[in-house]
Amino acid sequence: MPNVVNLKAIQSEKATYRFTYESDFFEHKDNSLVSGGKLDVLLDVVENKAENVFNVHLSIDGYVVTQCDRCLAELKCPVHTQPDVQVKFGDENDDDEDIVIVNEREGMLEVDNLVYDYAVLSIPIHPIHPEGECDEAMMQRLNQFLVDQE
Ligand SMILES: [Zn+2]
Repeated sequence: MPNVVNLKAIQSEKATYRFTYESDFFEHKDNSLVSGGKLDVLLDVVENKAENVFNVHLSIDGYVVTQCDRCLAELKCPVHTQPDVQVKFGDENDDDEDIVIVNEREGMLEVDNLVYDYAVLSIPIHPIHPEGECDEAMMQRLNQFLVDQE
């Protein structure tokens, strides 16, 4: 079951939700960049009735598992990010990058893709182990034909 927040059911000015994501969540994603991880997510929703939007604050903490660019072994990348997102009801085909559009009839904010996208954004462009922590056996295999390197 995907994690959702029923925006229409929120009664108070501010509502807070907690979600956890384990490795199975990442294993089922169609993206070879992330092979596992564990994330704790706190999500606050504050409704701004005057402007007809929901201000959503996410706090995502944990790690994702990706591949080291140098030795190709698994690498844990820490994730600590606090993105703010605006959510409003509307036609889901509206294409606005800064605002998440939620179908008004259903009123369900899908949390999974938001969390996944922000977690992936936390991965460095060239993820590598700290110096000396690469998989030695793997490095030797990769470098066995290397004769010179500046
Ligand atoms: Zn490495």
